[in-house]
Amino acid sequence: MLKVKNLKVKYGVIEAVRGINFEVRAGEIVTIIGANGAGKTSTLNAIFNLVKKEGSVEFVEADISRLATHQIVKRGLALVPEGRKIFINLTVEENLKIGAYLNDENFERLRDRIYDIFPRLKEKRNNYGGSLSGGEQQMLAIARALMSEPKMLILDEPSLGLAPIIVKDVFEILLKLNKEEDVTILLVEQNAGAALRIANRGYVMENGLLVMEDQAKNLLESDEIKKKYLGG
Ligand code: ATP
Repeated sequence: MLKVKNLKVKYGVIEAVRGINFEVRAGEIVTIIGANGAGKTSTLNAIFNLVKKEGSVEFVEADISRLATHQIVKRGLALVPEGRKIFINLTVEENLKIGAYLNDENFERLRDRIYDIFPRLKEKRNNYGGSLSGGEQQMLAIARALMSEPKMLILDEPSLGLAPIIVKDVFEILLKLNKEEDVTILLVEQNAGAALRIANRGYVMENGLLVMEDQAKNLLESDEIKKKYLGG
């Protein structure tokens, strides 16, 4: 579904992404794990054309390398950005409305479907984004991305700043979206343990390169991964 070929991102002399290749097949949950600064966010921003890049990105058999971000979203790829970026001075429902800006005529149908998946957001529909807990804000960021009815959801460190029990809730929602709503998922995470437990396959990113690729269960059992990313 998504094929990234020889992707590079440079900021002046800094090479944040140094020629990576990876793919996500329809129906999969794939994770890219790596430490702070490995180049994960730059990779995602490059896919959405939010930073300058070299290399190519294919989505559902079409080259999207040169499309504007909103055109990429229109084709069915949605991003849940790092730090959630919800609107704290707008209500939950207004945040969802913004997520539907490319799909405005379907707002009510989409909103009702979202409230079925996230009953907590329905309860808080008139509350300001800024009044939600960290976990609820992350759910809202995911819900907002779903308002464009994506085939594939890309998430940048959704576990950041959340207590382990809340991370579990958020990741259970991702599993449910994958299994029941047919959403293909690319999950970028520093929390390697949580990500590998829900993923089918994983890649390891270090210093702008993908240095390992395997089934998630093999990565979870790998001594090297345990030592470097799972706290021994
Ligand atoms: P994080 O977990 O902090 O998001 P990351 O793995 O996503 O880390 P990136 O944010 O992609 O990594 O950063 C990769 C490298 O590029 C880092 O060395 C970072 O300092 C550098 N970098 C990122 N954005 C910029 C920018 N706008 N200008 C200059 N350097 C940048």
